[in-house]
Amino acid sequence: KPFSTYLLSNEIKRALSLLHYTKPTTIQQLVVPLLLDNENQDIVVQSQTGSGKTAAYGIPLCEKIDWEENKVHSLILTPTRELAAQVQGDLTAIGRFKRLQIKAIYGKQSFEKQKLSLKQKSHVVVGTPGRVLDHLQKGTLDVSKLQYLVIDEADELFNRGFLEQLEEIVELLPKERTHLLFSATFPSELEQLMEQMLNKPVYLTN
Ligand code: AMP
Repeated sequence: KPFSTYLLSNEIKRALSLLHYTKPTTIQQLVVPLLLDNENQDIVVQSQTGSGKTAAYGIPLCEKIDWEENKVHSLILTPTRELAAQVQGDLTAIGRFKRLQIKAIYGKQSFEKQKLSLKQKSHVVVGTPGRVLDHLQKGTLDVSKLQYLVIDEADELFNRGFLEQLEEIVELLPKERTHLLFSATFPSELEQLMEQMLNKPVYLTN
């Protein structure tokens, strides 16, 4: 079934048609309706790059966010700066007619500039673990109203040695939050962390 039949606002539908996203990919068929229908369901998705995983979480998150909200609704963690920038671009395009503000924060960029940007309206923050943790510890990233934590390419976060920082980040987030975890593989260290962190997740594969 095409996206035009989904329970999405006209702003999101217009953005999808502009992107030429007509038919949902397999992973989007599984993830989008599930997230639209459920408020607090943790999910674990086994997915590769190229599967359309970014839009799979990007579409429902952009749909749920109210422009009026003045605090960060979703935090997305990625293993690389490149992926963070790509996710920011994709979500900005999906949320363009709602004028959603998607901020990317990663290392090798001015902390001060990011701090100023985070003082402005920010609906979604995408970043690499080191810099996100830095902002959380310095109080320049307000997560008091956070609803979702997305962990993208979790196995790559593990490969790059980010799991400890991920654990530190999670300690600084509100307890009442929903987790969306995406990974191509599930090494045992990652599974261990998932067991501690996730709340009765639904497992999906494409
Ligand atoms: P990803 O797996 O998120 O990196 O996405 C892979 C590529 O597929 C990206 O270039 C997306 O823009 C594109 N894409 C995602 N969803 C769709 C869709 N439903 N229809 C066509 N292209 C899509």
